[in-house]
Amino acid sequence: MSVDQPLIVGNWKMYGLADSLAEACKVAHALADRPSRARVGLCPPATLIERMARALAGSVVIVGGQDNHMEEDGAFTGDISATMLADAGAKLVIIAHSERRVCYGESDALAAAKAQAAAMAGLEPIVCVGETLVERQSGRALEVVRSQVFGSLPDYLKGRPFALAYEPLWAIGTDMTPTVDEIVQTHTALRQAMVERLGEAGKRAPILYGGSVNPKNAHEILHAHEVGGALVGRASLRGEDFLAIIRAID
Ligand code: PEP
Repeated sequence: MSVDQPLIVGNWKMYGLADSLAEACKVAHALADRPSRARVGLCPPATLIERMARALAGSVVIVGGQDNHMEEDGAFTGDISATMLADAGAKLVIIAHSERRVCYGESDALAAAKAQAAAMAGLEPIVCVGETLVERQSGRALEVVRSQVFGSLPDYLKGRPFALAYEPLWAIGTDMTPTVDEIVQTHTALRQAMVERLGEAGKRAPILYGGSVNPKNAHEILHAHEVGGALVGRASLRGEDFLAIIRAID
């Protein structure tokens, strides 16, 4: 099975002011000196997207957003459309991160609409799925993430670049991670679900693992079967740590 090039993306969440751009530049300079076999992206808060895109112009680091509205424009105070993200210099966008599913009640159907809007604007959506601790402990993890795949990936993604991110909720920001066997088992089930959902298109898109990835555990996780990269939260805020994770894939 030929899977797209691995993808490692940093999610800065609601962290970062202008001086944080120096961390992004550190990563870009290091990758210019020694390229990685992975594609690398950084998703800062919306306020920094345009400035980061300018600071990283000409580098291999791709800039992304953390969410987009499903409509192209309209009376939606506080929201940002995919077209606006693209206009600001973004090339990819995180969709349905669990913090959005939990804090704002985002459903699979909304995730699918947002992913379609992103792809229509020329962005590469990274669609997030993941189970809660209770769901894992009760043996329902695979059933939950399969159902999220079926509900959150629109037909429109067929033939267009996208990625899936498996982010168990209980591993995000907690320093807990599934075992490598659990990650492999879940990613294998996700691959199967993606193929059932999207056919050929489901065979190629990388499946990123996200949840407490750090420089110490990155090598083991990134080399596991069906792991096509990582979505990294806290450890992407420091250029040095993010770079150590990127280097772990080479
Ligand atoms: C995330 O925010 O997507 C994430 C995985 O966070 P962390 O790496 O901090 O667990």
